[in-house]
Amino acid sequence: MLLGAHVSVAGGLENGPVEGRSIGADVIQVFTRNQRQWAAKPVTDEEAVTFRDSLAKQSIGAVMSHASYLLNLCAPDPAARRKSAAAFKAEIERCAKLGVTLVNFHPGAHLGSGEAAAIAAGAEVLREAIEETPDATHVKLVLENTAGQGSCVGHRFEHLGEFLEKVGYLERIGICLDTQHSFAAGYDLKSEAGYADVFAEFDAKVGLQHLVAFHLNDSKVAHGGRVDRHECLGKGTLGFELFARLMNDPRFAALPGFLETPAGVAGWKREIEQLRAAVMVAPASAAVTRAPKAARAGGAPAPRSGSRRAKGA
Ligand SMILES: [Zn+2]
Ligand SMILES: [Zn+2]
Repeated sequence: MLLGAHVSVAGGLENGPVEGRSIGADVIQVFTRNQRQWAAKPVTDEEAVTFRDSLAKQSIGAVMSHASYLLNLCAPDPAARRKSAAAFKAEIERCAKLGVTLVNFHPGAHLGSGEAAAIAAGAEVLREAIEETPDATHVKLVLENTAGQGSCVGHRFEHLGEFLEKVGYLERIGICLDTQHSFAAGYDLKSEAGYADVFAEFDAKVGLQHLVAFHLNDSKVAHGGRVDRHECLGKGTLGFELFARLMNDPRFAALPGFLETPAGVAGWKREIEQLRAAVMVAPASAAVTRAPKAARAGGAPAPRSGSRRAKGA
C-alpha cells in the first residue's frame, strides 16, 4: 500500500507536499480550500504551478482531495442539494486544475427522507457532476463509506453498490474504505475471519475492482458503535493487527492509504514507519514453514491473505 496522511496546507497548498515528505509519505490527502466555509476562491494559474512543482520536488505520487464537510449531496431539500452540488462541481474543477486525481467525499445524510430516496437523489447529483465536468476525466470521484452516524447513508456496502450502479460512469467513480467507519458501522475487520468475510462481502456487494483508496484509522468506539471517532493506530478498539494485515494483502498493494488519526505530524511519521515495518517479505518457498518467530514481532499476522478462514482466528 502507498502510505500518507491528511496533511495541512496552512500558508499555501504547496506546503502540503512538504509536510507529506516530512512524515515519509508516498501520497497525501488535503483540503484544497477551507473545508468549513461555502465560499472558495478559484485556483489561480500560479497556485496550480506552485502546487505541481512542490509535488514533484517532494516526490509525492498521488493526491486525494477531501471535499468540504458542509456538503450534503443527498439533502432532501432541492435548494440545499443544489448548493452542495455546485460546491462539489467546483471542487472537481479545482482538482483538475491542480492535477489532483482523487476527490474524496461523504455521501451525505437523508435527514428523514429515508435511505433509498437519499441514495437516488445523491446519485443523480453525482451523475450530473460527472457529465458537467468533461474536462476533468482524470479526476476520480471517491465515495467514502460512513460510520452510520445520525441519518448518514453509505454505512452499508449495499448503499455503496447502489450508488455505483445508479451513477454509472464507473471509470469516473470509486470507493474509499475507512477502517474506523467500517468497524463502527458493524463490519468486523478486527478478527482474521472477520477480515476475510468483510472483504468477501465488499466484493459481492460493491466489487473490489472499485476500491481505490483506504482511510487508515483505528477506532475510539466499539464494533457497531455507529460513531465517527478516529484513534491512533494500535491504540483503539481495532488494534494494529488489522493494519498489518492490510499492508500484507496483495490485493491492496497498489492502493493509497491515508492516515486521519489524531497522531499529528510526528505521530504519522511513526505510524507510517510502523506500517512499513509490518510488511513481511515473502520467504523463499522452501523456508516458509521455518520462518523464525522473530519475523512476526509486533503482532503482525502471516503475510498471505487467502487462506485466513481455514486457519481460524
Ligand atoms: Zn475517512
Ligand atoms: Zn471519519
